[in-house]
This record gives sequence, structure tokens and C-alpha cells, in this order.
Amino acid sequence: MKKRELDKFQKLLLEEKKKIIQHLADLTEFSEQELENGSGDAVDIASLEINQANISKIGKREAYLLKKIDYALKKIEDKTYGDCENCGEPINPKRLEARPVAALCIDCKTEQENSERRYSTRESEEDDNYMDDSAD
Ligand SMILES: [Zn+2]
Repeated sequence: MKKRELDKFQKLLLEEKKKIIQHLADLTEFSEQELENGSGDAVDIASLEINQANISKIGKREAYLLKKIDYALKKIEDKTYGDCENCGEPINPKRLEARPVAALCIDCKTEQENSERRYSTRESEEDDNYMDDSAD
């Protein structure tokens, strides 16, 4: 993936992360000042670590998403972002725009879902479908 594209997805991911952090700031004493100090600076947000005690307050869905965001951000740094983790093919950019945390191309994702349905593992419910979940 080109640098310019990586930058674009990094921005998308950071916006998602920022949303979670802001939600967290509403829920906890997690100081918004801490956030403000780093506001606007992508690197600060990217490297902002949230401690376990606070993570437990934001709920399973966001905590899970946060983990995926950090993971995706790390892949951007490593420049491996955008490649399917299963087959190594580039993930369709449209898919990434809809789900910046996606780690699998649509073919592998579909295959994974099919095999999960077959074996019905608990793990299966926790994937990037979380991005679609706007139940709250
Ligand atoms: Zn794939």
C-alpha cells in the first residue's frame, strides 16, 4: 500500500480511537486534559495507552475495537497494513474504508465465517463485524 493510502487509513483509525477515548473520558476520570495535550497530534493519540482498569469501563465492544485499532495502527507502522493476513493479497480498499480494522480480505472472511458456522466457535462472534454494530 502506498504511503498516501496508509496515511489515509491511519487517520480513519485514529478517529475511531479518538471516539472511544472521548467516550472513556465521559465515563471515567481519565483526564481529558491528557487528551487535549495530545490533541491534533496523530502520534500522541496512536501511542496513547489506556490502562486495564479504564478499559474495563468502556464495555466489551469498544474494548475489543480498541484492541483491533491498535493492532491495525501497528500494522500501518510496519507497512503490512492492507494485506490479508490469511492469503496475503491486498484487501479491497472499499472494504478497508468501511472497516479500517479488517485483517482479512472478503474471500477469506467469507470462508472464515462459513467454517465458523460449521464449528460454531465462541471466538467467531468477535471480529470486525463489531464495526457494523451500532446498537448503542
Ligand atoms: Zn485473503
